Amino acid sequence: MIGQIPNPNEPTPNLADYSAMQAAFSWEAACAEWVGSPNGGLNIAFEAVDRWVIAGRGEAIALRWLGKNGERQDLSYAELARLSDRFANSLERLGIAPGERVCILAGRIPELYITALGVLKVGAVFCPLFSAFGPEPIRVRLAKSRARVLITTTLLYQRKVRKQRGELPDLQYVLLTDSREAELGLYSFHALLEAESDHRPPPRTQPEDWALLHFTSGTTGAPKGAIHVHQAVIAHQLTGRWVLDLRPGDIYWCTADPGWVTGVSYGIIAPLANGATLVVDEAEFDARRWYAILERERVNIWYTAPTAIRMLMKVGAKTVREHDLSALRLVASVGEPLNPEGVIWGLATLGRPFHDTWWQTETGAIMIANYRALDIRPGSMGRPLPGIEAAIVRRRSDDRVDRLEPGEEGELALRTGWPSMFRGYLDDEERYQRCFADGWYLSGDLATCDADGYFWFVGRNDDVIKTAGHLIGPFEVENILMEHPAVVEAGMIGKPDEFAGQIIKVFVALKPGYEPSDALRKELLGFARTRLGPAVAPRELEFLPDLPKTRSGKIMRRLLRARELGVPLGDLSTLEGEYPENSGDE
Ligand code: ATP
Ligand code: MG
Repeated sequence: MIGQIPNPNEPTPNLADYSAMQAAFSWEAACAEWVGSPNGGLNIAFEAVDRWVIAGRGEAIALRWLGKNGERQDLSYAELARLSDRFANSLERLGIAPGERVCILAGRIPELYITALGVLKVGAVFCPLFSAFGPEPIRVRLAKSRARVLITTTLLYQRKVRKQRGELPDLQYVLLTDSREAELGLYSFHALLEAESDHRPPPRTQPEDWALLHFTSGTTGAPKGAIHVHQAVIAHQLTGRWVLDLRPGDIYWCTADPGWVTGVSYGIIAPLANGATLVVDEAEFDARRWYAILERERVNIWYTAPTAIRMLMKVGAKTVREHDLSALRLVASVGEPLNPEGVIWGLATLGRPFHDTWWQTETGAIMIANYRALDIRPGSMGRPLPGIEAAIVRRRSDDRVDRLEPGEEGELALRTGWPSMFRGYLDDEERYQRCFADGWYLSGDLATCDADGYFWFVGRNDDVIKTAGHLIGPFEVENILMEHPAVVEAGMIGKPDEFAGQIIKVFVALKPGYEPSDALRKELLGFARTRLGPAVAPRELEFLPDLPKTRSGKIMRRLLRARELGVPLGDLSTLEGEYPENSGDE
């Protein structure tokens, strides 16, 4: 357990008394008390930027953009409010109606942030597409969203959209962020913006109006399009304040790309709704660059992911020590289980333990977390957000659910009714309905809860295996292997076995300086066996240079499994690396 030692030089945590807040807080009251926009609407973009301008903080920096070639650009809250008003006016001129989807396919460029806010202001639905996708996953998502407008760059358009435009009959307008020319079906984003006025009445969207369409990561199968509404901003703002401890003037960096839900909920909305300065790095991961950004920008709050943390661990602690990271107040992680090794490494090298947070595209905002004011149990996802009732349940055949006892393994469920809960999967009502039973949202993740209310991730429903009568989740086995000094990453799968039902096989990536060998394989298997006991110890171990991951950085165990068993690989549209040209979603 890592105790949180109060530091007199640091502000008191925003959520200073977790238990008191948990007892007192209700979403109903928070939503009823929320003051929306001046004409009675509730709108994410208004809450994120315009509110601050009205409050007199228009000159504060909202976005600090760091280009991949060393460029820098600051946008104040007032500038962002003005530019997004202009873009909302442009969209209105194009005839975009509330509820319509507007897609963007771009890297982390300033236009992406202007687009997101402009789309929300006009009442349309913001749908980001990850820029590293290949043409086919992009076509499928554009077709599913039925967008009439796509914002992108000339290069991405030429490479990934142009050839397929004929198959996208809905797509009328492509706005290029880096072109001044207009030709058939192509328009200049900046020329459109410049033709508009800065002024617009405050948005009129209502709490239940659609705002965001996010496709899931595709870790377990074909990505699903989750829909979120404007009221979600109440959860974004509160989780930003309570979990990330954000306050006006903080320098905040979320490393997730806005092509994924984290990069929007916590890479745009939550920090702006809390008045922070958002650092946006256009470039891809590079350990030295990252440390340099943390140091130079004096980042206070840093939200990243286990894959990135593991990559930093691989580079080693020496590089960290060359940098002054004393501005950091809180570091947090999301997306995958955070191994205890990662939490402790943060404490030892950054001087801050990583705070794990759990949530999903579907939940829209952080649901379970480690808070600044509470002790951290390394390896635990933490405790439910005040206002969230979480439980470990088993779904019965009559579609009711049984709550399980502390320590028992079951499905992680959340009592329905928080503002950022998804309101549907696009065009898949049946699948949406299947996520609910007995007043609970069933997450598809398996976990346990200890007697003190801390939740522990076990694995996804699909990744858990049964061997000789035991149910085993990958997290436990992978954690043990990661305790070995040679191992940087491990992925577990089940392999059918005549006697045991399934046996455990692990795939392992090694730290620099270690080479695969028979001796090391034996050593690792022995190491795991001593710690896990023979019943749950892996029987087979294979070395891989890297484990296959989704583009949002999650280990794709289903791909390890499919390759091992020689079965079809399934949807590969979100697989990291060179995109497979012919993979689709269906
Ligand atoms: P798909 O639903 O398409 O298979 P996905 O579930 O990976 O993809 P996301 O919504 O991006 O798509 O990811 C949410 C999932 O990520 C969670 O259900 C959980 O399995 C995992 N996850 C997120 N945060 C954590 C965490 N802190 N600890 C363990 N797992 C986490
Ligand atoms: Mg999922």
